[in-house]
Amino acid sequence: AKSWILTKLFDGVPKDSDFKLEVEELPEPKDGEVLLESVYLSVDPYMRAFCSFRMKEGDRMIGTQVSKVIQSKNPAFPVGIHVLSNFGWRTHAVSDGTGLTPIMPDWPQDVSLSLALGAIGMPGLTALYGIEEVLGLQEGETLLVNAAAGAVGLVVGQIAKIKGCKVVGSTGSDAKVAYLKELGFDEAFNYKTVASLDEALRKASPDGYDCLFENVGGYFSTVALQHMKNFGRIAVCGSISVYNDSTPQTGPYPHLTMIFKQLKMEGFMQGRWQHKHPESLKRLMAWFKEGKLQCREHITKGFEKMPAAFIGMLQGENIGKAIIAV
Ligand code: NDP
Repeated sequence: AKSWILTKLFDGVPKDSDFKLEVEELPEPKDGEVLLESVYLSVDPYMRAFCSFRMKEGDRMIGTQVSKVIQSKNPAFPVGIHVLSNFGWRTHAVSDGTGLTPIMPDWPQDVSLSLALGAIGMPGLTALYGIEEVLGLQEGETLLVNAAAGAVGLVVGQIAKIKGCKVVGSTGSDAKVAYLKELGFDEAFNYKTVASLDEALRKASPDGYDCLFENVGGYFSTVALQHMKNFGRIAVCGSISVYNDSTPQTGPYPHLTMIFKQLKMEGFMQGRWQHKHPESLKRLMAWFKEGKLQCREHITKGFEKMPAAFIGMLQGENIGKAIIAV
């Protein structure tokens, strides 16, 4: 089995030299155990955000995958089935079944299992809960989403369109802007090349925004709050613009804007609604099958390329969910 080990805690943007590939012999599965083989692995922003306080040098990189049971001494997980597992950046692992989640029942044969890590998995659920549980987005409202061409952002924008809203997306390249327009986003702009973020937000929605789905934080957030309508709602999902900062940012603090506009801001983690996952995954799958939800992926082939795929995702190389196909 191969694994990727964190040799050095990230300092700023992660580097190739922070990772080491290790090879280990795995024991034969005992009674009650299975041998799993990774088929698709996920690289996600939380791996950067968590590194500083959940990991130490020498630890295996954390992460989830779609894996296949290739040997089994556990009748609950027969050879050949696929499961969602959480054994980090590894090609193989032996498991007693704890923490393994079967892929959604009735997963259609013609749909790639990689989507279980993306739009019909954790990022898709994050988008759905942010919109329905946190924002309570209503038909006719205007929603702003940043990191809009990423795994979560693309689903956010498309669900908001399904709900009959005006959607504005901010993203980091002209190709991504073009893709968002193709998907039906009403307005999209490249935050890296606009002369003024303030002006771009005003132009995209002169009346302001009812809702902000916040993935980026930092400077973007400070400017965007000024464009919220009175009583606007903000779902704080992520803050990717600060994950690579070595020292935490201080201020400016948004309290005055929040008071005068009477805004409501709520941070959330998708796991809060775990009891709703089965039903929510069915809804996401139904939208996909009806052609209302496009599930674009950015697939990197080869386990050896995991660090490069991770670093590339943090730097915006991906349109849609960043996935590694082993
Ligand atoms: P993405 O697929 O969106 O990939 C990350 C994207 O972030 C990049 O493609 C890049 O796109 C953008 N980005 C990187 N650096 C910056 C920056 N400095 N400023 C603005 N944009 C930047 O990742 P996910 O969809 O998986 O995650 C999106 C957000 O959602 C993250 O903040 C993540 O932490 C959060 N999240 C939260 C969850 C929760 O339960 N609360 C669950 C899952 C994700 P671009 O070209 O646009 O710059």
